[in-house]
Amino acid sequence: MRILLNAKTQSSKDAKNNRTFMPPVSFRGLRPGVLALISSILVAACSLQGGLEPLPTLMPMPPTVAASSTPLATATATLAPTPAPPAASPTEAPRAVPAVADGTPATVGDLADPALPSEDAQSLDHFLFVGRPVPPHASVTPAASYRYGSTYEGRYDTHHGVEFENPAGTQLIAVAPATVFWAGDDSATVFGTFPNFYGNLVVLRLDEHWQGHTVYALYGHMLAVSAEAGQTVTTGDLLGYIGSSGIARGPHLHLEARLDNPTDYNSTRNPELWLAPLPGTGIIAGRVIDSRGKPIPDARVDIKCADGRFRFADTYHDDTVAPDDNYHENFALGDVPAGLCQLSVDYISGTVKRLVMVNGAATTFIVLQP
Ligand SMILES: [Zn+2]
Repeated sequence: MRILLNAKTQSSKDAKNNRTFMPPVSFRGLRPGVLALISSILVAACSLQGGLEPLPTLMPMPPTVAASSTPLATATATLAPTPAPPAASPTEAPRAVPAVADGTPATVGDLADPALPSEDAQSLDHFLFVGRPVPPHASVTPAASYRYGSTYEGRYDTHHGVEFENPAGTQLIAVAPATVFWAGDDSATVFGTFPNFYGNLVVLRLDEHWQGHTVYALYGHMLAVSAEAGQTVTTGDLLGYIGSSGIARGPHLHLEARLDNPTDYNSTRNPELWLAPLPGTGIIAGRVIDSRGKPIPDARVDIKCADGRFRFADTYHDDTVAPDDNYHENFALGDVPAGLCQLSVDYISGTVKRLVMVNGAATTFIVLQP
């Protein structure tokens, strides 16, 4: 077994302590303005260990919600402007995302999008990532603040993957039976937008194909790689260890799903639609659109489910990230407890809320529109 360790990689000790960006030695001596510019570029690509706030909880949903067993459409947009939000209570997350425009008045025939799946369609799933990329004792759910297609509220570039935040040295394991397409660093072969973007990485080419596509899983920012190119692996096999190599602010796994071209940064899809749901959970995928049917970027979707935990997802910032070939979503999040959840989006004209029955072990599709 071979261990690759990039000389440029921070030590795990340094990475843990490095909660604010510290430039490499070679940057010392530059004027502060130049340094700030370089810093902003470097942190743009990915992640943020230490930047995540603990998730607050919301009160359980009122009994009237649980009384219904069928999905209900409860659009509640009003003509009144959105009132100023009350001061955040200790049980609610502060809102940093403004209300979104809801477009001009719709005309007949303007709303239907023939590309959208039916909301009750359940045959479109493709959970080829049958296992999680980290062992069960680790944090096995993608971080909320920087999901696929989001910008962490404008702090970073559009995200082409999801983050699994775990300490440096946490094992990384195969999500599915596959052949190792790449194991090493990206200093010569570019997988991102410039060399050494992902640092040490492993790319798996999955055995199973999907709708004629070859499916890849990319693991970025590794501390060390223990797999070798050409090696065949099965679900759960060790690939290496979590680190912060490449453009990363702290130790975490950056996981991507790519179709057909493993070195193409624009070939990604949302990994949350490829990861098999954890037991008792499902996935919500949807579109936040204006009254004319146009997708709205950077809208915050708040999600309240029966477990009382606060969840959210932001809609895709731009089209540098592709939606799913089946769902054409502009947001998705997984590991949502099966059962009723309420989704809400603040439009300028008012809040649109919908109740949705999240199916276990499946993707539930929903449209939010004023
Ligand atoms: Zn990332």
